[in-house]
Amino acid sequence: MKLNICHLYPDLLDLYGDRGNILALASRCRWRGIEPIIRQASLGEDLDFMGMDILFLGGGSDREQGLLVQDLMRRERELRNAIENGLVVLGICGGYQMLGKFYQMVGGEKIQGLGILDVWTIAGARRLIGNVVVELNEQVLGVNSKFKTLVGFENHSGKTYLGEGVIPLGKVLFGNGNNGDDHQEGVRYRNVFGTYLHGPLLPKNPHFADLLLELAILRRGTDTRLMKLDDRLEELAHEVMVKRLLKQA
Ligand code: GLN
Repeated sequence: MKLNICHLYPDLLDLYGDRGNILALASRCRWRGIEPIIRQASLGEDLDFMGMDILFLGGGSDREQGLLVQDLMRRERELRNAIENGLVVLGICGGYQMLGKFYQMVGGEKIQGLGILDVWTIAGARRLIGNVVVELNEQVLGVNSKFKTLVGFENHSGKTYLGEGVIPLGKVLFGNGNNGDDHQEGVRYRNVFGTYLHGPLLPKNPHFADLLLELAILRRGTDTRLMKLDDRLEELAHEVMVKRLLKQA
């Protein structure tokens, strides 16, 4: 089996090791005999969202978000159709914000978003920086998930708020998450996941990487049971961070 994974705007959206998410997905495919076809695409390139299995958008600064918004907006209809068809999307920080309705910068100026997610973002006066632990929402957890938490690193001034029809990825146990006020982190809508967690997210949270792979394979209509991998090191690293941040013995 082959899985088409697209890293969109790798030249503009790729902060704090975001590219590691693509490496993690590709490795977890290969270790199971699935062939990952990785495509990097940027401004002006032709894309077939419907034919993709996983679309990845990393984080970027306000400047980069402004540079790509026009190119992204012209893809809105095709991307929306693919998402309604079950395309798996992971958007981190700036990429997450661009999937929402708008991002209002510190000066009040707004960068338009795709509006595919019922979320909006308003820059606050204080940057939200540091490690994060999230308790995953039951509706987001994968069936075989051993871990119920996500660990990662955030660095954003945007404060994101969720509307109706979307659910948060989980509850913040340490750090700020979406906005530092409502203790929510990230979003899920269909197979679209938005989050503030860099770090990169997927090597630190292999259960979450596998959830994305499972959903992508399910959309293909094939057997979704993923071969179990030896994740002892990844799980240990995950556990160490959870215990350290939550000050557990
Ligand atoms: N520009 C956005 C913010 O600061 C996104 C930052 C990021 O992607 N790390 O909120």
